Amino acid sequence: MNELQPSTSQKIEILSRIEEIIDSGMYILGKNVSDFEGLWAQLCGVRYCTGVANGMDAIEISLRSLNIGPGDEVITTSITAFASVLAIIRSGAKPVIANISEDTGLIDLDSVKRCITKNTKAVLLVHLYGNLSDPKKWVKFCEESGIYLIEDCAQSHLASFEGQYAGSFGEMAAFSFYPTKNLGAIGDAGATVTSNEKLDVISKSLRNYGQSERYQHPLLGLNSRLDEIQAAILINKCEKLDSQIYKRRLIATQYNNSINNVKIKKLAVPKDIENHVYHLYAIRCENRNLLQKYLLDLGIQTLSHYPVPIHKQVSVHGISVDPAGMETSERFAEECLSIPCHPDLNDFQVQKVIEVINGF
Ligand SMILES: *Cc1c(COP(=O)(O)O)cnc(C)c1O
Repeated sequence: MNELQPSTSQKIEILSRIEEIIDSGMYILGKNVSDFEGLWAQLCGVRYCTGVANGMDAIEISLRSLNIGPGDEVITTSITAFASVLAIIRSGAKPVIANISEDTGLIDLDSVKRCITKNTKAVLLVHLYGNLSDPKKWVKFCEESGIYLIEDCAQSHLASFEGQYAGSFGEMAAFSFYPTKNLGAIGDAGATVTSNEKLDVISKSLRNYGQSERYQHPLLGLNSRLDEIQAAILINKCEKLDSQIYKRRLIATQYNNSINNVKIKKLAVPKDIENHVYHLYAIRCENRNLLQKYLLDLGIQTLSHYPVPIHKQVSVHGISVDPAGMETSERFAEECLSIPCHPDLNDFQVQKVIEVINGF
């Protein structure tokens, strides 16, 4: 049993929903998908949601719904999942990589300003680790610059800022429900959200071969449909999402308060605990690899998000970056380490992590 597997009672509920779907004979774009879309839009405080096949497609579909493509530039960060940048490339647009702020790992506004050109069409804002930090600053900046704000919410389900949820700040937002995310399916799944009806109509067309009505294809779309079984599983898993986020915040608060070691740098604590859903809890350490091995030897598994900044990946060799350099991102990638933070950790395990890290 690992932390991704549903509890026994949840598994029984899910199996009965799957049985209903099998018996219904309706497997693609049926009631479960539209019910989930309605539920997720409501939870995010937006008007529309389109269920898609995965988070990467959700980003591509968001960009393409805004008519962003060849000749356009989209600015994003180097400290993110490769999918963020790959989705920009898949849309036909050119990714431009800005630097980060070292105290949060999040994309830095001054760096983004240096990356703006006459071809810039959007900022893809990644709420890294689940941290929805000052989204209103980005709304204002994008408005003033005449570019779109698109949110990559793959790590930030239901993070909120002054009562407003992640995904409701940008023109469009993309979610992933990959199994490890805070809201995870049992397989691949994703969604776009927006409050702009026109954009949602285009998203729903793009996910389904660019079809408008049966056998009419005004757009060249993808096959990126969310399927009925995953949608039913997501509806079921939404019930526990709030309590799981609550637990993540409790664990993170203990780490924030009790990790004390001169060799360890903690990231900035958000202004309000509601801003952060702690999909991941990252720390920094100059001897990251040594720390990781030390933790593993004492039974604590960790991962680094992300050990290779995107602009250093060989497949995107020559990608455009901040003209002032990417030193902060490169150092962050060498130093960051994500320590255990999933909601099923018990108090004893959390205390052990703290003690072991403080003893390093
Ligand atoms: C997971 C993730 C994605 C990609 O989602 P998939 O569902 O795996 O395609 C994109 N961006 C970020 C920030 C992610 O964490």
